[in-house]
Amino acid sequence: MTRRGAFTAALLVLAILVGGRWAMGRQPAETVAHQALGNQAAPASPSPTPTPATTPSAAPPKTPAPKKTTTTKPATRSKIGPFGTRRMTGSRGVALTFDDGPNPAWTPQVLDLLRANRVKATFCVVGTEVRQYPALVKRIVREGHTLCNHSWHHEFDLGTKPEHEIKANMLATNREVHRAVPGTRVKYFRHPGGKWTAAAVQAARELGMTSLDWDVDPADWAKPGAEAIKQHVMAKTRSGSIILLHDGGGDRAGTVDACKALIPALKRKYGIALLR
Ligand SMILES: [Zn+2]
Repeated sequence: MTRRGAFTAALLVLAILVGGRWAMGRQPAETVAHQALGNQAAPASPSPTPTPATTPSAAPPKTPAPKKTTTTKPATRSKIGPFGTRRMTGSRGVALTFDDGPNPAWTPQVLDLLRANRVKATFCVVGTEVRQYPALVKRIVREGHTLCNHSWHHEFDLGTKPEHEIKANMLATNREVHRAVPGTRVKYFRHPGGKWTAAAVQAARELGMTSLDWDVDPADWAKPGAEAIKQHVMAKTRSGSIILLHDGGGDRAGTVDACKALIPALKRKYGIALLR
């Protein structure tokens, strides 16, 4: 092999390694959350959901452990997510986002906490859950929160599908939202697992939705406990952060408990911004 050839090969290997790490880092969160969603029919997207590569107990998440983050200040965190997705609020305040609901066990508790603290949040809802619990979507909207489309049935591979399938999936969820709350707007889209593709972002844009990434992920889906969730969020949040939490997809007692302290603390320190 020539020197030039060897150099190119080395670059290629490096690129594969770096790319692989990035993909691994974001995958496990939604794998677990999705498993808990069950196996309801997904009329808008007949494709089978991908088999999770790992089980929650066998594979620890590749994301940083949500404890002992101390005061490390990540100096170079990007303000823009993959494919131009939105990762920061654009103001001093931080935004709370709750994914995978609505859920009758957890969403009302989260809504109660938000109301008690007089703050608003964004709910990234899954179409099949909206269909099951339309009254919860009504309450989310009535109480002034923002809605975000989180796919029809949490399809991790949605963004790899043909454009018409991606749009049909998104529209199915929005249709279900409109059935629950006629005339309401779904302003945002968040891809399951954060597995963004250019096609998904483009489809969302063409349907009038901004793609919403996040800046802080305490991996609450893995049930690290309220204290760990709280510590991670407080350590990693900065002005303008968008914080990822879950009000569905499994037992969210730890998230709810963490929120009891987190919401007032974040409100005091940064202010809570409503994504509009
Ligand atoms: Zn999700």
